[in-house]
Amino acid sequence: MQTKWWRSGFFYILLLVVVGALIIARVTSEEGPTPVSLPEFVESAKQAEIDTIEHDGETLTGLQGGQEGKAIITTVFKADTDAVVTYLGEEGIDLGAGGIDFYATASGFDWGTIALTVILPIVLLGALFYFLFFRAARGAGTQAFNFSKSRARLSLDKRPDVTFADVAGAEEAKEEVQEIVEFLKSPQKFQALGGRVPRGVLLVGPPGTGKTLLAKAIAGEARVPFYSISGSEFVEMFVGVGAARVRDLFEQAKRNAPSLIFIDEIDAVGRHRGAGLGGGHDEREQTLNQILAEMDGFDTGVNIIIVAATNRPDILDPALLRPGRFDRHIVIDLPDIKGRKAILEVHAKGKPLATETDLETIAKQTPGFSGADLANLINEAAILAARRNRKDITLKELEDAADRTMAGPERKSRVISPKEKEITAYHESGHALTARLLPNADPVHKISIVPRRMIGGWTRLLPAEDRYLWTKSQFNDSLAVLLGGRVAEEITFGDITTGAQNDLEQATKLARKMVTEYGMSDKLGPRIFGQRQELVFLGREISEQRDYGDKIANEIDDEVHAIIQGAYRNSKKILTANKKKLKQLAEELKAHETLDEPDLDKIFKGLAPQPSPG
Ligand code: ADP
Ligand code: MG
Ligand code: ZN
Repeated sequence: MQTKWWRSGFFYILLLVVVGALIIARVTSEEGPTPVSLPEFVESAKQAEIDTIEHDGETLTGLQGGQEGKAIITTVFKADTDAVVTYLGEEGIDLGAGGIDFYATASGFDWGTIALTVILPIVLLGALFYFLFFRAARGAGTQAFNFSKSRARLSLDKRPDVTFADVAGAEEAKEEVQEIVEFLKSPQKFQALGGRVPRGVLLVGPPGTGKTLLAKAIAGEARVPFYSISGSEFVEMFVGVGAARVRDLFEQAKRNAPSLIFIDEIDAVGRHRGAGLGGGHDEREQTLNQILAEMDGFDTGVNIIIVAATNRPDILDPALLRPGRFDRHIVIDLPDIKGRKAILEVHAKGKPLATETDLETIAKQTPGFSGADLANLINEAAILAARRNRKDITLKELEDAADRTMAGPERKSRVISPKEKEITAYHESGHALTARLLPNADPVHKISIVPRRMIGGWTRLLPAEDRYLWTKSQFNDSLAVLLGGRVAEEITFGDITTGAQNDLEQATKLARKMVTEYGMSDKLGPRIFGQRQELVFLGREISEQRDYGDKIANEIDDEVHAIIQGAYRNSKKILTANKKKLKQLAEELKAHETLDEPDLDKIFKGLAPQPSPG
């Protein structure tokens, strides 16, 4: 963001300096004639050295021929003009017609000078202060000066117009909150029947899965006001502000009940108390306490539902989860194929989709995508279509948008040497061919050597369906596929590159998990090594506590090593045996840069998966 020149603190500092210089200049220039004593002044008047006297309330100025240059001044006293005239008269000076002209100038206040010397600097200093402190504070994400008024965003007239129809693929969650909608719609009916409705509902799920959307939809369906606030807003605020804001928020909600309060990212304030680094999180704690107090303080007659969202339920303070608080948990997971298709449909509505476009194809290709990712994908596709001067969005745009979402935008401008391109082609072909030949690896969906963001190329495998369970053979084959890139480099060029770094990292992690978390090592047996635990005060940091000795640690290392070596040997055996295919694939890749399933099928023709070599 570009700051406007008049908004930068630097501008005000500069102005202050300029004004200061002006003031000094003015004061110096006013030194003009040296003041004389009053008797001397009177004497000059008597000698007719002056013909005009001016009185400004404090100073008497005598002018010769009306000329400033010949002025004589004297500082007399603070006095009424009348008193001065009387005094001069008593001294025998003839004022008025025929004598010396006498003028009373102003009140002694030179507003110009006062403005310049007093008011302007104050204003400028104020402005400077504002910029240095207030804006800096805001910039840091705090609302330090915005004391009591809660920033809860209420839209009374615009009660959310989001409905359940906008939330796709979360059927179970929608069913679970249906009861809450009914309650908000007609609380009396519920109370008459003595029904107990949960006061607090916790929506749990990864980012972008539609938690905020669902909360809005509850309010939208029930046509009640929606107050929302985010836990992260409270962090780093002055002590007491967060609590005041919570109080304010609940007050507003009560005034407009039935209503819904939504607390987003509640984990930001609702972490285990007393776990802050150096105890610097009083504010968070106070805010949390206030939320709890408000929830406990509700009379049974208050018709407010509080919905909170988090993707870290594991770190929440247990006090939040107690009965009467957030005791109802609704999990929203990443969508499955059906859900993804439904979400794509919701977002494709109103967009010019080519008639033959089947969104299921895209749904199949996007495991792991959240609702937000899918919304983004449709949007990207629309932009791509516009850029290509198309009137409608075809499967091509959607697939390109999916690639873009996964691997970052293409960087066609990046210059790659022919040698680099060749190595990348063989590397990716190594991944793809290993995947094709190993029975437990996922089918290859697409390969590309168009550089994107940080990577030179990529090979995408695509499981036939969403997977929740992995077998040991699948892991072993995955490892071989991961190492296939490095192996291809080695057997083709007799040398290896840094291009495999990420592959190696993933492979190492996976092998270690197999041994320590999934109990898949024959040698060490079915047990878990190390206790993983989140260090609450360090955020996402995971600490692993060793619950085994050095001997076991060595054995784990040996096992990880053996598993990786085994996978490497597998990959090497397969690729060496199919060197001709590897070359053919790499050459095609060099020529076309991107190959998708039909292309690959043609190249791989007659190449059926082989049983894993020993
Ligand atoms: P969260 O709060 O879980 O991080 P959001 O509710 O903010 O996720 O979702 C962000 C956006 O992603 C929504 O505004 C919506 O466009 C899209 N989205 C997410 N989940 C869904 C869904 N189930 N159906 C339709 N759109 C969704
Ligand atoms: Mg959200
Ligand atoms: Zn690779």
